[in-house]
Amino acid sequence: MSSGPLHGELDAGEEITVALGKAGQPPLEGAVGRDRGEGPFDRLVLRGATVIDGTGAPPWGPADIVLERDRIVAIVPVGSPKKAIDPNRRPPQGDREIDCHGKYVTPGFVDCHAHIGVPFYALSGPMPSADYVYKLWLAHGVTTVREMGTFNGLGWTLNQKELSSRNTIAAPRLVAHAYFPAVNDMLKVIHTPEQAREWLRRLKQRGADGVKFFGAPPAIMQAALDECSKLGLRSGCHHAQLAVTRMNALTSARWGLTSSEHYYGLPEALFEKQIVQSFPADYDYNDEYFRFAVAGQSFSQAAQPGSPKWNEVMERFLEAGHTFVPTFVPYDGNRDVMRARRADWHDEYTWEGLWNYFQPSREWHGAYYFRWSTTNEIEWKANYRIWMQFINEYKNHGGRVCAGSDSGFIFQIFGFGYIRELELLQEAGFHPLEVVRAATSQGAELVGLADEVGSVDVGKKADLLVHDHNPLEDFKMLYGTGAMRLNDATGKVEWQRALALTIKDGVVYDTAELLADVRRIVVAGRTQPDANDKQAAPT
Ligand SMILES: [Zn+2]
Repeated sequence: MSSGPLHGELDAGEEITVALGKAGQPPLEGAVGRDRGEGPFDRLVLRGATVIDGTGAPPWGPADIVLERDRIVAIVPVGSPKKAIDPNRRPPQGDREIDCHGKYVTPGFVDCHAHIGVPFYALSGPMPSADYVYKLWLAHGVTTVREMGTFNGLGWTLNQKELSSRNTIAAPRLVAHAYFPAVNDMLKVIHTPEQAREWLRRLKQRGADGVKFFGAPPAIMQAALDECSKLGLRSGCHHAQLAVTRMNALTSARWGLTSSEHYYGLPEALFEKQIVQSFPADYDYNDEYFRFAVAGQSFSQAAQPGSPKWNEVMERFLEAGHTFVPTFVPYDGNRDVMRARRADWHDEYTWEGLWNYFQPSREWHGAYYFRWSTTNEIEWKANYRIWMQFINEYKNHGGRVCAGSDSGFIFQIFGFGYIRELELLQEAGFHPLEVVRAATSQGAELVGLADEVGSVDVGKKADLLVHDHNPLEDFKMLYGTGAMRLNDATGKVEWQRALALTIKDGVVYDTAELLADVRRIVVAGRTQPDANDKQAAPT
């Protein structure tokens, strides 16, 4: 068995990128240098913080947290709330000190389903750079990203991962899951189980962390998942409608799939009165209005909450140790397109070409609001209620649920979309501490970095967030645009932001600077001087 590519064959993990490139859709421009962030420091001390450690433990403090270079080396309780701190109890001075009295420290966030942009953006104008994407993530506290599909190329992504790990670029740490090319309607070069195994061996050799599936013929999928477990590759699957009749989320979970992405394949696992969803006769999967309108009817056709079938399916997923990355946010606009389209951040933070990409189109992925109706929104609201109930119960029964944003589609942008996902997990029934746990320690477990990141613990990487306000009080305060508050003393509206500093690998980023950079990048990327007004008003 050869370990390199066969004659004329591409390196594993480059297939979709090469195909898109031939269609005039190149990868995004990768980041090359770091123009923000200070450190790492030989000794950095965060003084007097209230700690929310990411495990689900409630806040406690005050504590001094000592960082040496990229590691947490001490967490020292220094007294009682609202009492003067005895200086003798405090660890010695660092070469850099950050005053955290009255502030909150959490672990950095893990975005468990994300793309560093996609080549599709070339269809709608100038492409954003990876730097734009990374700065939006860091400005919203995202310090680890699970890249699902490496559409810019596995080699491209592994290069960015390496640069990020050395902190020569300002970017979250990256975990690379390559696109598994066995999908008829996208790209298929794997046709047999043995080809799948061989491809995965080559993928592993190149340094991938995992695989992103969109479904595949069952024999290929089963062999691939078996090979993944032999090789130590992790896996996530978007169970696309074209593949789901033969293999729903429960089938692949039992074959060893690490996580189900979005909701696809879950209603089908819960079907008890049918095998196939009631598709209208004129349905065409490639008509994205149809695809997403009909998808909003799937949970209403499945076993309902509390029924024996519902409970049995829940139990089976738990037995398989399966993880859900629901990504509630990309479909949020399906419940209220005006909300998604007019979000506070578009004017200043949405790259013009990305904004153009979101506009109704029959060809672009996720641009399906060309005939979205009141009925569609009502169906999707009902769909969310059942979906959220399943996810919340799964968490309550001990199942792992992680926060992923899938930003860059359907009026959702990087960073802002992740914070919206935290709001939606809370809407699903998660206590804010459970939301933070999903966003930190649970995410770290999913990506295989639980020993390194995801909680505030001695020995772990110095991936920490410093918040000026308690994030548990209101996740809206984490938006780069802040949350609207009335100042009773002045009678004026203020937009308050919680997240002051994002620390990744001991490098300290000022979120205000990152946000200012993004605003400048967006202005510089405009081809029309009045693009801002066009975004705000219907034309
Ligand atoms: Zn995705």
